[in-house]
Amino acid sequence: VRGYGGQRVAVLGLGRSGLAAARALKAGGAEPLVWDDSPEARAKAEAEGLALHDLTRARAFEGVAALIVSPGIPHLYPAPNPIVAHALAEGIPVDNDIGLFFRSFATPEWNRFDQPPKVIAVTGSNGKSTTTALIHHVLQVAGRPVQMAGNIGRGVLDLDPAGDGAVVVLELSSYQTELARALTPDIAVFTNLSPDHLDRHRGPGGYFAAKRRLFAEGGPDRAVIGVDEVEGRFLANQLSEGPGDDRVIRVSSGTKLEGPGWSVFARKGFLAEWRKGRQVASIDLRAIKGLPGAHNHQNACAAHAAVRSLGLAPKLIEEAFHSFAGLPHRSQLVAERGGVRFVNDSKATNVDSAAKALQAFPRIRWIAGGLGKDGGIAALAPHLDHVVKAYLIGHSARDFALQLGDTAHEICETMEVAVARAAAEAEPGDTVLLAPAAASFDQYPNFEKRGEDFTARVQALAAG
Ligand code: ADP
Repeated sequence: VRGYGGQRVAVLGLGRSGLAAARALKAGGAEPLVWDDSPEARAKAEAEGLALHDLTRARAFEGVAALIVSPGIPHLYPAPNPIVAHALAEGIPVDNDIGLFFRSFATPEWNRFDQPPKVIAVTGSNGKSTTTALIHHVLQVAGRPVQMAGNIGRGVLDLDPAGDGAVVVLELSSYQTELARALTPDIAVFTNLSPDHLDRHRGPGGYFAAKRRLFAEGGPDRAVIGVDEVEGRFLANQLSEGPGDDRVIRVSSGTKLEGPGWSVFARKGFLAEWRKGRQVASIDLRAIKGLPGAHNHQNACAAHAAVRSLGLAPKLIEEAFHSFAGLPHRSQLVAERGGVRFVNDSKATNVDSAAKALQAFPRIRWIAGGLGKDGGIAALAPHLDHVVKAYLIGHSARDFALQLGDTAHEICETMEVAVARAAAEAEPGDTVLLAPAAASFDQYPNFEKRGEDFTARVQALAAG
């Protein structure tokens, strides 16, 4: 990795990404000094020939050029890990695998190409995984060599070196962008900013991290910015030179953006792309089964903007949208039978994401419940108009039943019963939707297993 050749660099945390960082540093001519609190993790690294270095010692950072911190180790909130705090106090540069990745284009592996790959980085509060996966899918369909990494797919340092027409799509959390010392994507995508995110993560990290990074080193060639919140509008304004500037593509779900600049917006189920005061593309998003709901229309607009800036034709993008299967457990259409759709949104573990899903379909047979969160589903009261009936499962079933009031409901306890009951009662045009608004841990090891169970039950019905 460039910048650290011949230097000693400490690596904290020896999971997959920490080990990949140590290997990348070694490959770039640096001397990685690795550490993990867990003796098992240390033993594994040592077996690989990596040099252990006790970072808990008082003088651990003498002669060390930088500290690479693994994801999951707190670097800021609620408080830095003691080893990170020590490095900060000593003035040692703290970095992560994303920072190393952006420096790595000068290593021999990546350097054999005339052009480094185009890098698209996706940040924001919601829709990052879906937008990243959709960009990746469209480029794949278009036949471009493309790899996906970051929070989704592989670790950034596990990517295969590529260039000359290749594209790398990265999903980055605000924690990752905050920490990375180098962050120089060619195309930066900022999806949106959720106010709930502000409360939950103490401070508007998602926004300020994005803003700070988008301005770094002159910023990206192109910025795709969701402007449905005031922060996005402000960011777009600051990045552009004026009304007709092409550097920023503004994206909205709901608002017409027909100005002289470049924009992609969704209205009444249609995507529209405008450039220099005229419409240049239109896509009927209602016909795209893998992207239901206004929130996914926003994701589609952001992905469209990103791949348009790589020069893809609108017709090709539309075709590729049609073959997008959706990400597992996020408004994923798992079956359609007798005019009834079965949708798995097991990832909707809280009321915010359940609310999005409940707005995305017209007539819903709603499977909900699990390990309920504080306040239960009281906050969903304004979003129940489309619910024909609720089928309640898990620990919170009775609490949810009380909060549903006039909305028809039935206590089913298990997924098996809920799917069978909902399918038996569904009429053509209905959607059987798993969007639990609760954690899964009362009945499942995680939300993925819950979604797989739903999918298996639905498929068993179809077979029976
Ligand atoms: P992230 O990677 O940012 O967490 P995902 O694409 O994994 O986002 O989606 C997670 C959940 O958030 C989904 O289940 C969906 O309910 C909701 N969601 C997806 N896209 C959006 C969006 N653009 N705006 C708001 N909520 C969204």
